[in-house]
Amino acid sequence: MKKDKLIFSLIEEEEARQENGLELIASENFVSEQVMKAAGSVLTNKYAEGLPGKRYYGGCEVVDEIENIAIERAKELFNAAWANVQPHSGAQANAAVFLALLNPGDKILGFDLSHGGHLTHGSPVNFSGKIYKPFFYGVEEATGLINYKQLEEVALREKPKLIICGASAYSRDWDYKFIREVADKIGALVLADISHPSGLIARGLLADPLPYCHVVTTTTHKTLRGPRGGLIMMGKDFENPFGIKTPKGEIKMMSALLDGAVFPGTQGGPLEHIIAAKAIAFGEALSDKYMDYIVQVKKNAQAMAAAFVARDYKLISGGTDNHLMLIDLSNKNITGKLAEEVLGKAEITVNKNMVPFDKRSPFVTSGIRVGTAAITTRGLKEKHMEKIVEFIDEALIHHDDEPYLDKIRKKVNEMMAKHPLYKK
Ligand code: PLP
Repeated sequence: MKKDKLIFSLIEEEEARQENGLELIASENFVSEQVMKAAGSVLTNKYAEGLPGKRYYGGCEVVDEIENIAIERAKELFNAAWANVQPHSGAQANAAVFLALLNPGDKILGFDLSHGGHLTHGSPVNFSGKIYKPFFYGVEEATGLINYKQLEEVALREKPKLIICGASAYSRDWDYKFIREVADKIGALVLADISHPSGLIARGLLADPLPYCHVVTTTTHKTLRGPRGGLIMMGKDFENPFGIKTPKGEIKMMSALLDGAVFPGTQGGPLEHIIAAKAIAFGEALSDKYMDYIVQVKKNAQAMAAAFVARDYKLISGGTDNHLMLIDLSNKNITGKLAEEVLGKAEITVNKNMVPFDKRSPFVTSGIRVGTAAITTRGLKEKHMEKIVEFIDEALIHHDDEPYLDKIRKKVNEMMAKHPLYKK
């Protein structure tokens, strides 16, 4: 068959972009070659609706083995009692949890999107805000830290059925124990969505939500450095609080409700090629090499935060405990939108981001979010962080000087050429 030149030349173009530029998008990373190989393997040809050993299709012996390995490795990595590795994405993982735990119209309490939360935690444009009744907590304006007092107040007043913690743009750790105590006062369940810091949590660099939160979801492609996908876990299984029974009249365990909410609840056939890639990534994340990597991710984030602060950048909460930071550019006379565009010209990729209490729209924003997961995979260390912050600062200062931006781009390309992405 003739190769699709158009698409493959575009893939090459994207590979060059990734190879040459500085990838600071906090939710991105670069998978290993073996993860990539599994994701592009013959497993993409296989239908396997159901779970290992309980499929609706024949010929599933091999994929059963692969999926079982993925489940066991996920459990080992997070010290979980149960895991479902089938969600196609983080949003799908959350959709399945909501379907399992809630009825349409039920109240939920999540972290405000405009303060750093995620769309799937109750935004009105998302299923979570359309099907359920969302309430929100945010950060304190003065400190940029989660306003736990507000969380408790709203929880006690509204009595949501589900409290969601976790974020897309929050640089500090979470007090899962406190959130569980609040939930217990009103009989609510707690979901921790650890999509961003899951790699740091897995290797003990941040607080562990599994002992406190009823259910934990994560994407597999951010700090965890696996293929794009989702994962649902529980620290321990428990009887579902809704009294839903099996055909034999026994109360169904929560794991059964969650499994059923993934398939047939919200998905059809699982992506076994991606599940194989997840299994490999979980195996990698259990290694000493990954431990060195994730420790370096955190060190790099702290070095980068310090370098920004030294140049009078305003970091929300003043710094970071994880792999990312949210920067308010209000004192730099540039919007998040323009900063993203300008940095793009220097081949530094970031995303514009609302900051808490932002006066600008989500399309313009006052801030940017940056993270160190991807550049650490490229082998960059603390000394490079200072240089990167210098590139960013210079680019923002000279934002309308195209030749100057081009000079920075060349320096960026030189830096990245010393840290090749994939062996040719
Ligand atoms: N939850 C959080 C906290 C996220 O940051 C994200 C993605 O950015 C998601 C869920 C959704 O993941 P996906 O894009 O895989 O659907």
